[in-house]
Amino acid sequence: MVSRVIPVDPFDLVIFGGTGDLAKRKILPGLYRRFLGGQMPADSRIIGGARADLTDEAYRAMVAAAIDEFVPPDRKNPEVITDFLARISYVSIDATVEGGWEKLKTLVRPGVVRAFYFSVAPALFGDLAEKLHQHGIADTTCRIVVEKPFGRDLASAKALNATLAKYFTEDQIYRIDHYLGKETVQNLMAVRFANILFEPLWKAEYVDHVQITVAETVGVNGRGAYYDTSGAMRDMIQNHMMQLLCLIAMEPPYHFDPAAVRDEKLKVIRALDAVKPSDIVRGQYLAGGGEGGYVEHSENPNSKTESYLALKVSVSNWRWKGTPFYLRTGKRLRARTSEIAITFKEPPHSIFDETSGWKENVLVIRLQPNEGMDLLVMIKEPGPGGMRLTQVPLDMSFADALGEDAEDVPDAYERLIMDVIRGNQTLFMRGDEVEAAWAWTDPIIQGWEARGHKPQGYDPGSSGPEDALMLMHRDGRRWREIKG
Ligand code: NAP
Repeated sequence: MVSRVIPVDPFDLVIFGGTGDLAKRKILPGLYRRFLGGQMPADSRIIGGARADLTDEAYRAMVAAAIDEFVPPDRKNPEVITDFLARISYVSIDATVEGGWEKLKTLVRPGVVRAFYFSVAPALFGDLAEKLHQHGIADTTCRIVVEKPFGRDLASAKALNATLAKYFTEDQIYRIDHYLGKETVQNLMAVRFANILFEPLWKAEYVDHVQITVAETVGVNGRGAYYDTSGAMRDMIQNHMMQLLCLIAMEPPYHFDPAAVRDEKLKVIRALDAVKPSDIVRGQYLAGGGEGGYVEHSENPNSKTESYLALKVSVSNWRWKGTPFYLRTGKRLRARTSEIAITFKEPPHSIFDETSGWKENVLVIRLQPNEGMDLLVMIKEPGPGGMRLTQVPLDMSFADALGEDAEDVPDAYERLIMDVIRGNQTLFMRGDEVEAAWAWTDPIIQGWEARGHKPQGYDPGSSGPEDALMLMHRDGRRWREIKG
């Protein structure tokens, strides 16, 4: 199968925070791969910006080192790297003070697509927007890309939206949630809306429950001070997992376009019931396996921040009434895995007896590792043993289905940056979506704070706190095993 690469229009992309971790690990290697893949036109420019006093040469050397470290060996082509680096320059600029802005103005060309990537701390988003406007660098045709976290509660998200709205219209603002850039997540929409097979069953009548799991093996090492201001609810549930839930639960949009898709996602968020405290399990990993526990890393021995969260969520609308969505995420768990599992109900009447070995149909959408989908179906166990049933996966691994092309599946950041250049906002969060998500999250967090709620300890390498098992057991269900 040959994948089609459609080049985007020539662009100038300014990366504020161009020397930071995200730029080096994701944004710049991703742009290189799009250049290598023929999608980034030769007549495009990348301008890194940060406070450090660097020459263009020194910055190019930094980018070359980032490509060396974060691009797989078989994708490194020395000639292409040299060509790519020739399109990169640097400006020393501070978001909070004058200096550097006039130089930036001379570097950004009118007449091409112009995008400004705010890969800096969110506290600087407002300053950057204001300076771009004051210096006449960004006009009504430019785009800005903003990173997470987008606020830490409803009030701060509203304030940030209001600040950006002073200088940019909503159709110029691209709020990144990199989960939406993952191939499988988009494939979820293709599977739902390009096939007749699934959508008729996609409702409470046929779906028993949905599980969404994002499990990590790493702890908060080195990021403890930051994470202590966040926790699993703000870091994972309010944004990434909420977006996954929306894509599963939303009604078919009338068209695959930004307004239609985002309208449908917003309706899902607004339909979420408030979560009862008894439907939430918070956990914090303990010391073990030669590593300190969460509190040792957080620098606060009394930290009550959750590194694990499991929730039972209800979507109150006609389609989903009665079908729970179980969400769980955590650090220092048994394996690194992200998946969505949709478990279907029993057939209305079984013609097989109770010993036949029947199990539910499950559609598993794997985000990592090994992106792809499995549909677990029942077949007859081969052989002469009578009518015994066995569950087998109809495996839709991208690596198998696409062969060599799977290597070229762009990483989430690559795809999203190309979407910014194309001016396609479908996979970016709209301001009202982000606010609605915080409006649902805020009371939960405020409840913990008011009660001084302390998370339950769990062992590193486990599948989370004991109570999380009970969250499903009491409903007669069980979590899928966390395995890599
Ligand atoms: P980082 O490694 O701390 O880099 C911050 C960047 O901002 C550096 O280039 C820094 O360079 C620049 N900077 C700091 N103060 C500045 C100022 N006053 N004016 C202009 N530039 C300034 O941070 P990061 O990890 O790359 O994260 C960047 C953003 O992405 C944050 O919003 C973060 O939450 C988000 N994010 C990061 C990741 C990740 O994996 N790293 C994942 C998701 C989201 P100078 O110090 O030289 O100015």
